[in-house]
Amino acid sequence: MDFEKILQELPAQMRELCGKGRVATYIPALARVPANKFGMTLCRVDGGCYSVGDSEERFSIQSISKVFTLSLAMSRCGEALWRRVGREPSGNRFNSLVQLEYEKGIPRNPFINAGAIVVCDMLLSHLSNPKQNLRDYLRVLSGGFDIDFDEEVARSEAETGFINYALANFLKGHGNLHNDVDEVLDLYFHQCSLALSCSELAQAMTHLASAGVSKRLGEALLTPAEVKRINALMLTCGTYDAVGEFAYRVGLPAKSGVGGGIVAVLPGEYAVAVWSPELDPSGNSLAGGAALEYLTTVTQRSIF
Ligand code: GLN
Repeated sequence: MDFEKILQELPAQMRELCGKGRVATYIPALARVPANKFGMTLCRVDGGCYSVGDSEERFSIQSISKVFTLSLAMSRCGEALWRRVGREPSGNRFNSLVQLEYEKGIPRNPFINAGAIVVCDMLLSHLSNPKQNLRDYLRVLSGGFDIDFDEEVARSEAETGFINYALANFLKGHGNLHNDVDEVLDLYFHQCSLALSCSELAQAMTHLASAGVSKRLGEALLTPAEVKRINALMLTCGTYDAVGEFAYRVGLPAKSGVGGGIVAVLPGEYAVAVWSPELDPSGNSLAGGAALEYLTTVTQRSIF
């Protein structure tokens, strides 16, 4: 498979999408990111990474962080997690309040905001220093030892995160947050503000393409059963209310963020990260989704 060649073709292929999506503006610090950025890195499980464009530039990973908080929660909190969060696609926007109301404070899945906020609450209860533990986990997974939170993005989210405050207070009202609302949201806003490049993100995802074993570290970070579950959740819940369309077009477990990043894995073969800040109406990167569709179409390889 000539991944090098395929990746080099992408920027030209994606150019026609420029201006057709919208950079997220509801978090003011994200609105300043240039719309025309495009980067992608693909790391094969048997070694070798291929990159194109702005693949070394760090961006706000936003909801992609939910894969890593879920991984930590699954390994530290066990089955208790699933008494407080579901495992079904939501069919609603990622920050929807409606569903949470009629399902009495149990979020549909760990990748919508409400579910990720409950995961944060569990990490606060189980980890000694959750912010640092999460940042260090990402540093180890990616090999980017100076990876950090973007404090400006975290502050910007806290100042404008009225809907997330509403979700957290609603969860608290239903007894599904055990810690203080402000503390939980501080962790949530910080996880979303983590800044990584495509090459760091692709590295950080490779163990999800190789049954939990990190090639770089030479050790198992998750069990094959945990990897199966995380990938299943990415496939069914990772791209919000566009998850069916995404599976139809791309055919890979994937997780997106409103910073314009998408990560995806083809188990046994590769992990990939793509970044392009303009989003489609569901909040997924427009060119990022198209690039992944191109990749699985020309290689004729997907999980299906
Ligand atoms: N920080 C964002 C929010 O809470 C994350 C959403 C996303 O990336 N889809 O609204």
